[in-house]
Amino acid sequence: MLKFSPSRYNIQSECLGRYYFTYIMNRRDNTLWPGTIAGTATHSYLEENLNNINSENDLKKLPLWKPYFDKALSNEITKGMNYKKPRGFSDANFISNYEKFVREVLRFLYLYLPKGTKIFEEKISEIINIDNIDIEITGVVDLQVKNNDETYIVDFKTTKNNNTWYFVDWKDDAQSLSYFYLLRERNPHSFVYTIFNFEQKTIITQFSDEIEKEQLQKSFYGLLQDFVVNHNNSSNNNNYNPSKENCKWCFHKTYCKVAIS
Ligand code: SF4
Repeated sequence: MLKFSPSRYNIQSECLGRYYFTYIMNRRDNTLWPGTIAGTATHSYLEENLNNINSENDLKKLPLWKPYFDKALSNEITKGMNYKKPRGFSDANFISNYEKFVREVLRFLYLYLPKGTKIFEEKISEIINIDNIDIEITGVVDLQVKNNDETYIVDFKTTKNNNTWYFVDWKDDAQSLSYFYLLRERNPHSFVYTIFNFEQKTIITQFSDEIEKEQLQKSFYGLLQDFVVNHNNSSNNNNYNPSKENCKWCFHKTYCKVAIS
């Protein structure tokens, strides 16, 4: 069965070759960088500690962030991932940035999010038939806040580059559309990206209101149709998107015939 997830759709949008080699040929990059582990550790930190904040005073009692990083790293190494650090990387500076700013992130979330029951990291999935093709839609919702029969959907992102988050084109945004669709029976009130930059110590939010049901189905099914067409076209390297920027860090550049070096 064809699998759809927001990350698969987003990789298609960057370059169909990257999608083809990763998901059809199953050539996976097992390199892990500190920023990726830090993202996983921060998700766990928020999940375990956000419910313990009932006043600003509780922020002083928060645990250190580093043990979460160590645990996430050791889990990934056990799975066979290959941990690499960039040239000139300083462990001390890196950890210290996270220790200092993660409390501000929790303070922000405590003040910003609506009050209600919090559900973390729920896996959701559904099979949808589009043009006689069964597609399995999957996603993991970072946080849902249930308040007065409405659901607020929250996604956590960590970034080094704020520029990529100043504008979100909601009509083509695979993550919000798929979560709105999969959670449609839970009366979704809104979807928000909360984007944390631990180097620059900034927080950006990007917010989308609930979408009317008919419009949601039309937009999401349209996106799935594009996904199927792109999937079918992905073995043809005339459809790839080579550029110096795209290919520079691409794991597949050693065997991709149209890579630009
Ligand atoms: S090397 Fe370039 S063209 Fe080839 S898959 Fe990667 S990004 Fe696409």
